[in-house]
Amino acid sequence: MSDASSDGPERPFTVIAIDGPAGSGKSTVGRRLATHLGLEYLDTGAMYRGVTFAALRRGIDPADAEVVARLARQVELTLVDGTLVVDGTDATIEIRGPEVTRAVSIVAANPDVRRELVRRQREWAEQRGGGVLEGRDIGSVVFPDAALKVYLTASPEVRAARRSKEVSDLSYETVAADLARRDALDQGREASPLELADGAVLVDTTDRSIDDLVADLAGMLP
Ligand code: C5P
Repeated sequence: MSDASSDGPERPFTVIAIDGPAGSGKSTVGRRLATHLGLEYLDTGAMYRGVTFAALRRGIDPADAEVVARLARQVELTLVDGTLVVDGTDATIEIRGPEVTRAVSIVAANPDVRRELVRRQREWAEQRGGGVLEGRDIGSVVFPDAALKVYLTASPEVRAARRSKEVSDLSYETVAADLARRDALDQGREASPLELADGAVLVDTTDRSIDDLVADLAGMLP
């Protein structure tokens, strides 16, 4: 909101939507682009992981749609600088672990969970005058009018290699199988499947350097 007493022009509401499958480079590119543009960054996958963590911790079956939806509306998720606190418990490490990773796509296919998290994501951006948001449905559902919509991709081998570097206790084969399983669930679900949004720029990150990519994407902003 502009105000006559403020100094200088205010920046317009600017949202950058980054979507794509796991290991496509969304987090690295999203964080770097946000810093480059002086915007805040939101990893929406961490929110779905946070709800999943809360469900598992309470012994709730991730497939129990009604109970998980109620939990999603009640759970407190605080995401600051890569740290996720779920109802007062630091869940940063556990949300990347095998249990949450195995169950998260079931929770994310729940339309009522999605409705609640999309509401929180829009509120997050509105409170900050925009931001860089990354996930699976940002350009298609959360902010279809984003200033820039990017769909990142990379070969399955490169995506699995990137992820297995992050989770050193799992073999490459295990990580590759998990990615393929999650890709199929995320692309095949009825509620907001992962897909190239209308007007999104498709970028293959397989052989690209981060610096180069970030400069390119920043240059695409209107
Ligand atoms: O990005 P990350 O791999 O951490 O996301 C975990 C899971 O959360 C995805 O596999 C997907 O099922 C779900 N997700 C989603 N929509 C988003 C972000 C993540 O469905 N916007």
